[in-house]
Amino acid sequence: MSETQATTAIIWFRNDLRLSDNAALLKACQHQNVVPIYVFDENAARKLGAAKRLWLHFALKELILNLRAMGTELILRAGDEKTVLINVIEQCNAKAVYWNRRYEPDAIATDKELKSTLKNQNITVESFSGHLLHEPTQLTTKSGTPFRVFTPFWKTLDSTIEVQAPYPAPTSIPQVPNELDSLNLAELKLLPTNPDWSGGILDRFTPGESAAYTILDAYLQNDVANYKEQRDFPALDATSKLSPYLTFGEISPRQIWHASENVSGAQPFRRQLAWRDFSYHLLFHNPGLEEVNFNNAFDGFQWDKNDELLQIWQKGQTGYPIVDAGMRELWQTGYMHNRVRMIVASFLTKHLLIDWREGEKWFWDTLVDADPANNTAGWQWVAGSGADASPYYRIFNPIIQGKKFDEDGEYVKTYLPELKDLDAKYIHAPWETPDDVLKSISLELGKDYPKPIIDHSFARNRALQVYDQMKQAA
Ligand SMILES: Cc1cc2nc3c(=O)[nH]c(=O)nc-3n(C[C@H](O)[C@H](O)[C@H](O)COP(=O)(O)OP(=O)(O)OC[C@H]3O[C@@H](n4cnc5c(N)ncnc54)[C@H](O)[C@@H]3O)c2cc1C
Repeated sequence: MSETQATTAIIWFRNDLRLSDNAALLKACQHQNVVPIYVFDENAARKLGAAKRLWLHFALKELILNLRAMGTELILRAGDEKTVLINVIEQCNAKAVYWNRRYEPDAIATDKELKSTLKNQNITVESFSGHLLHEPTQLTTKSGTPFRVFTPFWKTLDSTIEVQAPYPAPTSIPQVPNELDSLNLAELKLLPTNPDWSGGILDRFTPGESAAYTILDAYLQNDVANYKEQRDFPALDATSKLSPYLTFGEISPRQIWHASENVSGAQPFRRQLAWRDFSYHLLFHNPGLEEVNFNNAFDGFQWDKNDELLQIWQKGQTGYPIVDAGMRELWQTGYMHNRVRMIVASFLTKHLLIDWREGEKWFWDTLVDADPANNTAGWQWVAGSGADASPYYRIFNPIIQGKKFDEDGEYVKTYLPELKDLDAKYIHAPWETPDDVLKSISLELGKDYPKPIIDHSFARNRALQVYDQMKQAA
């Protein structure tokens, strides 16, 4: 442990809303005074979606309490990140600023600019890793280029990267040096009002660092052994649901990696965690991926600009139960199971031929785990335009997917109560139900639940044709 420096340091919290495994915080604690700050930038290049704003409120609430338990206060400010930070540095006469790295192109640009401005003013600036298992510059293929395919990426990561052991939380945090203005959390206006739709999300999740550790412990003890066999079945609570905590940094991937190291059956789960690093690796080496096709053969693709169909998909009214259940799970709870994310994304891009960017935007606004790298990579993977993407001819059949992964319709019935009395035999293709059966359960298709908005075989053939044309033109 190095000697305490008789100066003030700022720890700038961003997507690392935790006290444990926070290298920047530990470094700041080597100063006599520490100013913990969070800046909410309403006009950031990519505004937070509504579901993430809600989550942020509660994640900050816990961070404030955890810091208070250590005898200090989080300084909350709003505005342009650079301007606010420079202001606070002047107000508290800070001599050093520490942060954990971000990897989205806009954030990298902001951080670089700040670093050079502050260094010119003789202020120490140091950044640390903590959001990923590895730094995106650390791994290359044998020919020295960034990876484009997951399996070799994973093999290299697993065999060559020594993932840093998590750092402990500080035992104490030095005081803020003088009175600094801070907003109240409520003044950030992160919570929905009129209507307040937060109930569905808060019934399902408890944001915050301590909840993340509780979930991880329970998951590793009780569930991870069945991950490989059960992770594709949405009715089973078989995945960790740690994604929103990772996105906000209430837990770090290193903590998950090390906690799961010697746990029997955990390797498939750790492999999945590495997909997250792969998404960041792609984004880092291909900035702009949330807008630009990874495979530029898709640049001339003729997407159908159809707002009416887009809204039907968003509301979960397509008439395909597994698609509609997923979209309603998302709307109600801010989350959707991974298998179902693939099904609904395939439906939008291949059945409806609607641009993957429209789906990505909707997920961005409604997911509590909306992540700049994972969301983009997920959408591009399903659309076929991404790295290591699902081939263009892979068009998920929503009926077969439903029968395979939700055989009894348990998941579908959770989110589509209007189908609760429908026999499992018909649950994934209600239009095939004989009239007398529909009558006996008082279910009228087209009124209580929609008829399919498009015929599956027609949609499949049309998608194949359009994708073929694109390939020939490329
Ligand atoms: C169209 C589409 C959009 C997606 N958007 C997002 C998003 O915005 N944010 C997000 O975190 N994930 C996204 N994913 C990936 C995946 O669906 C979620 O990470 C997963 O469902 C989260 O649930 P979990 O925490 O229970 O995952 P678990 O199965 O428990 O996995 C543990 C962790 O590994 C990571 N992980 C798991 N699967 C993937 C994957 N396929 N790609 C990248 N990382 C993965 C996540 O960080 C996850 O929390 C998307 C997938 C698709 C197909």
